[in-house]
Amino acid sequence: MDNLITGIHHVTALAGAPQENLDFYTGILGLRMVKKTVNFDAPDVYHFYYGDEQGNPGSIMTFFPYEGIQKGRHGKGMLNITTFSVPSNSLLFWEERLKNYNVNYKPAQDRFDNEAVIYFEDPDGLGLELVFNDKDERPGFTYGPIPAQHAIRGFYSVEIWQEGYERTAGLLTEIMDHRLIAEKGNRFRFAATDAPGNYVDILCTPDALRGLGGGGTVHHIAFSVPNKDKQLFAREKLSRAGYNPTPVLDRQYFESIYFREPGGVLFEIATAEPGFAIDEDPEHLGEALKLPPQYESKRDLIEKAVKPVQLNPTKFK
Ligand code: ZN
Repeated sequence: MDNLITGIHHVTALAGAPQENLDFYTGILGLRMVKKTVNFDAPDVYHFYYGDEQGNPGSIMTFFPYEGIQKGRHGKGMLNITTFSVPSNSLLFWEERLKNYNVNYKPAQDRFDNEAVIYFEDPDGLGLELVFNDKDERPGFTYGPIPAQHAIRGFYSVEIWQEGYERTAGLLTEIMDHRLIAEKGNRFRFAATDAPGNYVDILCTPDALRGLGGGGTVHHIAFSVPNKDKQLFAREKLSRAGYNPTPVLDRQYFESIYFREPGGVLFEIATAEPGFAIDEDPEHLGEALKLPPQYESKRDLIEKAVKPVQLNPTKFK
C-alpha cells in the first residue's frame, strides 16, 4: 500500500519581533515569504510562512511572532534544530554570508557520510543548520537575494531530543510510514521518503533538561499527506493506536490534525492541497495581509493589532 504520510510538511516556531524575523528568513537566508496571515486561533498575532517559490511541503518554515515574547529553552521533548539543505560547494558562500550579517555559527562538522553541517541560531535563538550535500535534487530558489546555485533547497532534516527514542520511533515506523534509515551514536534517522526534506532525527539525550516553550523554540512539526482522504485514514489509524488527534481543522492553505507524540512534541498532519496560491496570485505571494473568510469582517481591528512589516528586497544582497 502507498504511504499515507510522505514526509515533512512544515515546521512552526515562536519568534519575537516580526520585522526582525522577516528580515532574517527572507533577507539573510533568502527564503520567500509565501504567506502573511494571522494565527487562526489568535488573530491578533501574525502567522508568517516562508518557503521555496510556491511554498512546497518540505520547505515551509512558519512563525508566530510575538513582540517581547519570553524566551524558551531547547531541551528534551522538543524539536531543537531545523536543518536546511544547500549544495556541498556552497560552504564558503554561506560562511561568508553569515559572517557578513553577524550571525555566529559553529565551524562545519561531519555528521553522517558526506554531510558537513554548520549550526547557527536565528535572532530569537531558534536552532538552525545548513547541511552541505549533493543528494538534494530540488532546484535552488530563484526568488530572493541569493544566487540559485547557492540557495537553500528546502529542509534537509529536523532534530528532536528525547529521553529515549523507542516510543517516538514506534509511532513513526508503525503508524506514520517512516523507516529507520541511518543511525550513529545517539542519533536515529527516520524518513517516510528517503530524500532530503524528510529526515527526522531522534537524539537520545537522557541527561538534557526538558525543553521549555517560548521565543526561539519550535511549536510543532507537520507531516504531509497528499489529500484529505489520506488524512482521514491517518487520523483513524492514530485513533485506533490510542492517540488522540484533533478533528480536522481548516487552515485555508491545508487541512490539519494535531496530536502529542509520546515524548511530548506536538505533531500535525497537514494536506499538501490546496497550497498558498489559493487566495493570492503566485507572482505576489506574501505581499498582502491575507485573512481567512471568518476574519475578513474584522480586518480593520486585526490590521490595527498587528504591527506593519515590510519586505526589504534591496536591503539584503
Ligand atoms: Zn502547523
